[in-house]
Amino acid sequence: MASEISYDLIVIGAGPGGYVAAIRAAQLGMKVACVEKDRALGGTCLNVGCIPSKALLESSELYAQAKDKLKDHGVQLSGLALDLKKCMERKDQVVAQLTGGVASLFKKNKIDHVLGQAQLNADRSVTVRQSKEETTLRAKHVILATGSRPIEIPGVAVDGKSVVDSTGALALSQVPKKLIVIGGGYIGLELGSVYLRWGSQVTVLEALDRIVPAMDLEVGKAFQRVLQKQGMQFQLSTKVKGAAVKKDGTVDVTVEDASGKAATLNADVVLVAVGRRPNTEGLGLDKAGVKVDERGRIAVDEKFRTSLPGVYAIGDVIAGPMLAHKAMEEGVAVAENLAGQAGHVNYDAIPSVVYTWPEVASVGLTEEQLKEKGVEYKAFKFPFLAVGKAIAMGEKEGWVKLLADKKTDRLLGAHILGARASDLIAELVLAIEFKASAEDVARTCHAHPTLSEGVKEAALGLGSGTIHA
Ligand code: NAD
Repeated sequence: MASEISYDLIVIGAGPGGYVAAIRAAQLGMKVACVEKDRALGGTCLNVGCIPSKALLESSELYAQAKDKLKDHGVQLSGLALDLKKCMERKDQVVAQLTGGVASLFKKNKIDHVLGQAQLNADRSVTVRQSKEETTLRAKHVILATGSRPIEIPGVAVDGKSVVDSTGALALSQVPKKLIVIGGGYIGLELGSVYLRWGSQVTVLEALDRIVPAMDLEVGKAFQRVLQKQGMQFQLSTKVKGAAVKKDGTVDVTVEDASGKAATLNADVVLVAVGRRPNTEGLGLDKAGVKVDERGRIAVDEKFRTSLPGVYAIGDVIAGPMLAHKAMEEGVAVAENLAGQAGHVNYDAIPSVVYTWPEVASVGLTEEQLKEKGVEYKAFKFPFLAVGKAIAMGEKEGWVKLLADKKTDRLLGAHILGARASDLIAELVLAIEFKASAEDVARTCHAHPTLSEGVKEAALGLGSGTIHA
């Protein structure tokens, strides 16, 4: 039986964009429903993305430390063994704790989780289908936050066993002897690192002549060298033509190099990680009159308004980096705008992090982007090799690279390759948000001994000169 219920706001999708928008809107006094087809809240990030992959990255890094690094600290180990089942169970517990946390936050903020598949109608009502039940919800405003899903390659069928996407790679029951990763981006390098640490022979096939294409080129090249030193193999400028699962369960992957030369590689498992596409199908966008852009993303203006009045879109379904924290910022901005406040997102100050070891973290512009824009800039790199804490930790790999305007000294970009880069980038995000100069960072007192002294020294290097190198 169809029923009608009215809200101030309906959010479709309970990923980081959607659930954060719902919570902020409820905090601002709105009556909110969040339609989510899965029982577990949190979307891709919490269920099959950021969180489970970070749990496995942590477990595998600890294993790698026990295997390779602890002896340098005088810790002798014998009988080291991997209990993969335990790692996977721990990952599932981490996911359950966090998705349960979102459910508690919904309860606390009196947000209704409406279970089912949502479809938007031209009158802005939302039809929710669950099994044979159909409900129609009405609201003053609707936010579309349906996220994205992995792109598939023609000729490479994901079967969830021998050929997996990121979801499958988070739940393998065995460590493959040979793992082929198609795509040298965030997912490929993070999940490739997990299995490399656990003993897989990992080969990354990348269509372009570089890994992580959006990254500062110098950082990207150094990052690749670091991963190669750890044993990860790369075949760049390599196009995948197809994959066939053989009788023995292994997979033959046919590739073509830049000169058109074909070859066949074999692996126990193939991970397809060539990007993600927005989830717009089945939402009724066409019929409702919500326009999409040339790349299938929902078109929005600077206030996240779609072409249908009262309907907004955020996160992976719109343009911009497909990052959970970008979606969260957008969710807050829309909720605040709906409450009459001045919500906005500063896209110049969105950090990006690859959670390998060492990590890579960036904010702002790359050297290539500065050159393309014709900006006169200065650059400085300070190595962790000259940072006391890094030496004490035995984490001397990498550097902090800062880019600033040549005339005004304003910080324009920061790129860190090194231990705990994900934490170190935060002060540089703040600096860029506050339009700080390199001198502002250089004159800020940084605790000694910390890795953050590498940031201060890099900033000093752009001005009056470094102390420790
Ligand atoms: P990606 O866009 O980061 O990388 C995909 C890579 O695959 C690119 O280097 C691309 O050139 C390559 N590629 C594309 N087609 C190919 C082909 N046919 N053969 C070989 N290589 C090919 O995509 P991803 O790693 O799948 O991640 C998807 C999204 O998820 C990203 O947009 C990323 O923002 C997000 N993500 C972020 C994090 C993080 O923030 N740490 C982690 C995981 C995923």
